[in-house]
Parts: sequence; structure tokens; C-alpha cells
Amino acid sequence: MNIKVGTRGSTLARVQSQWLIDVLAKAHPQIKFEMVIIKTKGDLVQDKPLDKIGDKGLFTKELEDALLSGVIHMAIHSMKDMPSQLPEGLMLTLPTVREDPRDVLLTPHKIDSLAALPQGAVVATGSKRRISQLKKLRPDVEIVGIRGNIDTRIRKMQEQKLDGIILAAAGLKRIGRFVDDAYETVALPEKTFIPAPAQGILAVEIRADNELVKDLMKAISDPDTIVQMNGERSFLKTLNGSCHIPVGAYVEMKNESIKIYGLYGLEDMSRVVTRSIEGPPEEAEALGKELGLECYKAVHTKPGKVYLAGGGCGDPGLLTVKAMGVLKRADVIVYDALVNESFLNEAKEGAEIVYVGKRAGNHAMPQEDINALLIEKGLEGKTVLRLKGGDPYVFGRGGEEGEDLYDADVPFEVIPGITSVIGGLAYAGIPITHRDCVSSFHVITGHLKSNAYDGSSDLDWPVLGKLKGTIVFLMGVKNLKKICAELVKNGMDAQMPVAVVHRASTPYQRVVVGNLETIYEIATDAKITAPSLIVVGEVVNKREKLRFFDEKPLFGKTIIVTRSREQSSQMSEKIVELGGNPIEYPTIKIVPINEAACDEKVKELDKYTHIVFTSINGVEIFFDSLKRSGKDARAFGKLHITAIGEGTKNSLLSRGLTADFVPDKYVGEELVNGLAPLLTKDSRVLIPRSKNARIYVVQELSKICPVDEIQSYETIREDHVTVDPLEMLKNKEIDYITFTSSTTVEFFVEKIGAQHLAAINAAKCVSIGPQTSKKCLELGIGVDIEAEQYTIQGMLDAILKDTEK
Ligand code: SAH
Repeated sequence: MNIKVGTRGSTLARVQSQWLIDVLAKAHPQIKFEMVIIKTKGDLVQDKPLDKIGDKGLFTKELEDALLSGVIHMAIHSMKDMPSQLPEGLMLTLPTVREDPRDVLLTPHKIDSLAALPQGAVVATGSKRRISQLKKLRPDVEIVGIRGNIDTRIRKMQEQKLDGIILAAAGLKRIGRFVDDAYETVALPEKTFIPAPAQGILAVEIRADNELVKDLMKAISDPDTIVQMNGERSFLKTLNGSCHIPVGAYVEMKNESIKIYGLYGLEDMSRVVTRSIEGPPEEAEALGKELGLECYKAVHTKPGKVYLAGGGCGDPGLLTVKAMGVLKRADVIVYDALVNESFLNEAKEGAEIVYVGKRAGNHAMPQEDINALLIEKGLEGKTVLRLKGGDPYVFGRGGEEGEDLYDADVPFEVIPGITSVIGGLAYAGIPITHRDCVSSFHVITGHLKSNAYDGSSDLDWPVLGKLKGTIVFLMGVKNLKKICAELVKNGMDAQMPVAVVHRASTPYQRVVVGNLETIYEIATDAKITAPSLIVVGEVVNKREKLRFFDEKPLFGKTIIVTRSREQSSQMSEKIVELGGNPIEYPTIKIVPINEAACDEKVKELDKYTHIVFTSINGVEIFFDSLKRSGKDARAFGKLHITAIGEGTKNSLLSRGLTADFVPDKYVGEELVNGLAPLLTKDSRVLIPRSKNARIYVVQELSKICPVDEIQSYETIREDHVTVDPLEMLKNKEIDYITFTSSTTVEFFVEKIGAQHLAAINAAKCVSIGPQTSKKCLELGIGVDIEAEQYTIQGMLDAILKDTEK
């Protein structure tokens, strides 16, 4: 019996077919195997890149025709040339043992890894799979196309003085050119440089009805290769792979299980992903499919973006405008211990907020997990803000996160931050350089590997001891004693000034000053702990004149602001300006109501003689209604306008309207007393105001003339809360709680919980006016301070007065 074995005519094709024929002949001595050479289209067109000619089956079609017509019984291909789908009536037999699956780099350089290739090296390869992986591992390498059989390619490398070409190890081994004096053969590990699916496996294609050949092949099949082929081909099939798209797969055989590595990308290579999956060997096919689907999904979902941002060194005002912009629109915020938590109030509603720093008793999230989290969220298409204290690259491990994101193909950007090294010092009154004394500065980690004071250390103390510039040690408080001793031992003047700055630029900032000899004792006595900066240098003396922060009137005072989110910032800014620490805990939220009714009144505005605005919200919502009705400020005509409060007055002014009457005190009684004399029975008053307002004003004015009230908005409880001050209240870390209306009192107690009244009362309660104070007392809160002027400024003045006591 004569079995005709079809193959392409290239040397490699013939060599590998001969190899298989030898294996078959040995297993089946009674049968004669004969090689038949058939030319394919891929062999004929040599001058174009592969992905530019024809479609799938470039190297297989003619052989398949010969099989179907009975000219040959078996067709031998490199498995990696096989399209994922075979023509009707044909099938692959079980494979025989696999040759080396890896890719290799052939290079004239005497090197043993891809990393060792010279910068900017020129490497030839035509495969998109290889190009994308090479670009990833060596972004500097210039990649050029190449075609032809192995010998041609090696010749081209030499003629064109290329720094390398990438080939399959299997082919080189088969034709005996794996090791050669003319070049080095650098193997590219299959897990990091994923080969083509089934690379190194010979594909034997037969007619599905040819039982005899099927059995001949079965006798020489290899169980591991079968598993690998099933897994890798299934991955390829799921992705409908061809040479036009980057696709690679490798099944690693482990003891009891397999791990499949897959690579897949878009045709233009703008997005290429790698993923892996593990499972039992029997499920190789299903696993290959699952991995293929996962890769498909990853490639076709647009990834989001991760911003590695610095949050500044403490003072919330030190966040960059750019970081704030991202903060407001981020879907996910991942932040560290040193980040000011007040930023979280700026997060959009529904943003996912993940704390990854250390917390009492708990370890911080391990760096690998943080990296994995950023990658996961980025791949889900989310905008992720990774917020770190200070600057992300100053001892912040931002570089590691960026590298992992790069490896995972997640786009990222870096937003630098104000580092504590510079900003923190400034808040302590220490300029990091000064013409009088230093011309350089040095930033050193004080987190020493060797803490034993035995002279061994990972810092070069002899060099540090001689530095003339300012030295800032981060993470060094624990080693303060050693740091000072080493510097003196290595030549620095023991009288050199040193400052230790604890929690710089925050309300908890504490600064102690001494010299190399004394500072350890001074800092220990003052119980200074981490996080602190250690500053060594003459610049420390400048603090006497340059300190500005810890001398502000509200320095060190923590004040809760309970107003609505929109209105908090104005108050917080004033507190910060005075050196205080505002904690925004919005308790109320303003929502417009009765819009249709409001629009109706606006349409007949000319029927009224007087209008009364009681709040900024009232003004804003009224103007929204005007706008909806196609009107503007002209609609007010001769209307007499009353405004309660400075804010309301200013809000009108900004819209071009000057209030005719502003009561001195911002309470209802004052309003009625002032307005009543101006009204006659023919007057008609409109009051757009909150649903929660007191009935008093309307009741009193109605005694004189018709009064229409529009309940245009409502104050409801704010439930979107990112900061919970309860712990701080319990720890007596809050100095003042400010209440700007009775509803803020009501909802504050509701939210904190009436059972915590003692904790609430441990702080001083500041009320804006009598109504608010009344509510406080009603709910069991003692009013320590009531503003004289019933305004925000009035409250702050009252607090300032209190601190002077
Ligand atoms: N990326 C940060 C530094 C991180 S290392 C930056 O650029 O500032 C952490 C160390 O920074 C702390 O141990 C402490 O030494 C220092 N540090 C950060 N913020 C600080 C602050 N507000 N006050 C004092 N030290 C601070």
C-alpha cells in the first residue's frame, strides 16, 4: 500500500514532512509513504507582506484541493499556518509530539536576552503577533517587514545588517540551523512572548472519511501535544484567527492542570491584549474558548483611563486644578492614607471610592493588589483617579503602578502633585533653598533597611555627611536618632539646625526645631510621630520670619460645615483662609419643586407690587423659571424687591437687580416690621421660598394685603455622604459644629444619630441665629455660640471671638 504525503516545496516543508514520514514508516513498516510536492499561492507570491495577499489558507488551499480530489492522502502543514476553519470534508488527525514551541531572536550581537539588544535596534518580522509583543517589550526597537524562507531571512539579516530577526524555533531546529556560528539564537520564553497557536506542531490534514490514515496517525500521537493542540486551536477558532490579526496561544502543561496564555488584538494593532486561564487538561478546548471570548471582550471594550495623581501634601487647596477636574468626573477613586479626605466630597454621585492605605490595626492593601485593581477598573472602561499624598513619583510607587498599567495596556496619565518635600516645608516656614545658605537640596528616604545602629546601612552616610545643601528625610522619624548620629559621625557640624515637621500643611501641623545633637530629644519629648519630615540645614533658621501657617487665628481648629454641598465651599474657603480645618458634612440638599406653578406666577409677575426673596436658592430657582418662560430681569419692571440676607441681596445684584429693602436682621419679625409700612390694601406680594419656611411672614403680611407664596423648593436630607465625622466627634477632634438653619440641625442629628448627643455636645455648637438655636435646644444640643450677624461671616466672627478667649 502506498500512502501519498503531500507537502509544500520549501526546504522546511520537505524536511518536516520527511521527518514525519520517517516516524510513520518506523511505526508502520509494512506501509510505503511517498512525498508529493505541491506548490501553494503563499509560496508563489514572495514579494508582498503576507497580510496583503489573499485570505486564509494561503499555504494550504492547493494541498486541500489535492486531498479532496484524491491526488494525495495526507497533507502536511505547519499547524500555525492552518486557518481555524477547515473546508467541508477535511479534518486534522491527532498530532504527534511537538517540536520547540517558542519563537527565537536571531541576532549578530553576542547577547542572551531580548533586553540586551542595543537601543534602537532594527529587528525584522512580518507577523503582527510578533510585532505587537516586541513593541511591548522593547518600545525602542525599530521593526521592519521581512518575507521568505528561513535561509532567505537569515541572509537578509546579514545583508541588510539587521540587529535581529524573529523566527520559530521549531523550523530552525528541523533544518539544523538553531545553533550557528554566524548568530546568537535567543529563545523568547513562551509565557512572555506567546507563540502562534500550535507552533511546532505538525498538522496532518486528511479526508474525514479516511479511517486508515486516521489510525496510522493515532498510533504515533502524543497525549500532551493533543491537549496543547486542542487548547490553542480552540482559542484560535473562537477568535476566527488568521494571519491578518495578532493572535497567539500557548498551553503550559502543569502537573494536574494546564494554563493557557492567549494574545489577541485588532487588525491595526491599536489594541492587543494578553490573558491567561487555568483548568483541567480534559477541558483544554472549553478553556481555550473561554479565554478567546475573554480576550475578544477585552479588545473590543474601550478601556478607560487611570490618572496617577498627586493630592498635595495636606492643605486641600494644594490639589492641582487638573487633579480636581478628574476627581469630579472619576468613576473610581483609589486613595492613600496621606490624602486629604475632604476631596471625596467632590466625587460625583455614585463614584466608587476605595481606600488602600493603612487604617488603625489594618494593613494597607499590598502594592500588587492596588496595581491589579487599577488595571481591572481601567479595563472596565472606567475613569480612575489614583490619588496619592504629595507627588505620585516622590517615594510614592507611582512608577510601579504606571509600569503595570503599561504592561496591561491600560492608558494612563500622571498628574504631578505638590510634594511634602517642598510644600510641607514651606508651610512650616522653611524654604527648601535660600541664596543665603544653600544651593542644592537632597531628598532621602529615612526608611532604612537596617535599623540597627551598628554602622551598617543602605545609605551612603559618608557622602550625606558632606552635603552642603538642605537634606530632607522622608519616612525617617523612627530613625531620627541614627540619622543625626550618622551625619555628625560623617563630618556634619553637630550644631546644624534640624526641624521635624509633623503633618505639614494640615491643621495638625507641629514643628519642632533643634540641631543634630538636640533634635532627637526634643522630638521625643514632643511625642512627634510619623508622618513627619526631617529637615537638616541652615534654611531651618528662616522659619522665624517665614512661618505663616501655624500662626493663623483658626490654626488647629476643626470645624464641621453642615450646609448643602453647593453652599459649603464658600464657608470652607473662609475657614481655610483663617487657617482652620473645615470638614464638609452636608446635611441638606435643595431640590426645586412645583415648577409648573412657579412658571404660572412668573407669567403674571406684572400683577404684583412687591416680591420677597428669602434665600439665594429662592433667587436661583426663580430665575430658572423666568428663563423657562422665555423672560429675563426686565420682567421685574417696577416691582419692589425685598431681599433677606447679604447673600440673597448679592445674588440679585449679580443678575442686575438692586433690592429696594434689606432688613437689618435676617429674621421674619424684622422683615414684617420693615415691609408692613410700605404696603397698602391694594398691594400684592409674591414670596417664592422654601416649603420648609415658617408660616409667620405670610400670616402677618396677609393681614394687610393679598400675599401669594410659591413653595419653589424644598430642603431634604443629603444622603450622599463620603465623610463620616462620628469617629472624630467621639475622639473630641472637632472644635466647632456650624449650623446655618434649623434644617441643618435636624438632619445633622438624624444622620449622626440622637444616641450620640454626648459626642456632638463635646464640640462647640455655633448657630447662625435664634431660629437655628431654638432647634438646637429642642433636639438637645447646647448652643455655645450664636452669631451676632445672622450670616456666614457673622458665624466666623463669632468663632474667632471665641478662640481669643
Ligand atoms: N509622595 C509623597 C511622599 C510619600 S512617602 C510626597 O510627595 O510628599 C511618605 C512620607 O512623606 C511620610 O513618611 C513623611 O515623611 C512624608 N510626608 C508626606 N506628607 C507629609 C506631611 N503632610 N507632613 C509631613 N510629612 C509628610
